[in-house]
Amino acid sequence: MEIKLTKTSRPKELPDDSKLGFGQLFTDHMFNMDFNPEQGWHNARIEPYAPIMMNPATAVLHYGQAIFEGLKAYRTSKGKIQLFRPDENMARLNRSAQAVCIPEIDEAFVLHALKGLISVDKKWVPRAPETSLYVRPTVVAMDHYLGVRPSNTYRLFIILSPVGAYYPEGFNPVTIWVTDKYVRAARGGLGEAKTPANYAASLYGAEVAKKAGYTQVLWLDAVEHRYIEEVGTMNILFVINGALVTPPLGGSILAGITRDSVLTLARKWNIPVAERPITIEEVMAAHKDGFLQEIFGSGTAAVVSPVSHLAWRDQVLTVGDAGVGPLAQRFYGAITDIQYGRAEDPFGWIVPVDEA
Ligand SMILES: *Cc1c(COP(=O)(O)O)cnc(C)c1O
Repeated sequence: MEIKLTKTSRPKELPDDSKLGFGQLFTDHMFNMDFNPEQGWHNARIEPYAPIMMNPATAVLHYGQAIFEGLKAYRTSKGKIQLFRPDENMARLNRSAQAVCIPEIDEAFVLHALKGLISVDKKWVPRAPETSLYVRPTVVAMDHYLGVRPSNTYRLFIILSPVGAYYPEGFNPVTIWVTDKYVRAARGGLGEAKTPANYAASLYGAEVAKKAGYTQVLWLDAVEHRYIEEVGTMNILFVINGALVTPPLGGSILAGITRDSVLTLARKWNIPVAERPITIEEVMAAHKDGFLQEIFGSGTAAVVSPVSHLAWRDQVLTVGDAGVGPLAQRFYGAITDIQYGRAEDPFGWIVPVDEA
């Protein structure tokens, strides 16, 4: 399929690289593509960034039939632009699609389109240390119909946002509040899919955590409220007695690409890795016995996010010295070095954006 290119006649002013936040600014162009049952995915185009006009009865606005991805493009010191494991994002987009009855996309084509879009807006990939261009592919249901059923028509779009360093002043450990009342996702539900419903479900619990003075909420399983699942919108990992422990992908947890990268590195470094169910009681006991060394979250935005405190019922536990653990630091360094081209990529994770 051809991608039609319409360039903006009014390019925006580029932001100051040293003052970027997250997700507030968008580039000059976007990618759009439509689906209907007769033509399948069609009308692929890169065009000026613009609002999407919607009939108020559009299905996605009412029933949330939508999916998205999040990845980043990095500029190396040599000025090259590259992506980190984007094929994994495309594969996950299709798994999410299946979970909410959205038609399959051609992964290779959407990755090609994504690279083409970044290439058109390449001057927007920031240069300041640890900055990047965040890439947000999204698919939404477009039928104008208030009945509940999978939509017949869809829009796939990709937007780009230059983002600042996640840790401009060095690591900033987060404090987490364990909820045994609120639930993010249940097995058999949508927990494995990157879909807005999971985010809507997480907002209230996150607000309660904030009101209690904590940065993030730690989600337990929906049935017994004992097994650890995720932290905020990140996967979670523990270092217990020298081993890396993380909950298995049991159906209610998002299969994070950063999580997989951390586990892959750990195995390469001969660190014992266990993907196994872990209860909040076990974490508390490991801390009491002096075996709990580190806790950190993993996700594309922060790469790793060290946890300094964890509150559960009436107990507040301090992890290590409340600073950044050596393994969290090592994973962060190794992954960002590969992303920014400062280190060799022995895993084939880097995909260059061929700039036109
Ligand atoms: C996106 C996401 C993650 C992290 O996935 P990455 O691929 O590492 O960015 C973890 N949990 C949830 C709920 C997510 O939506």
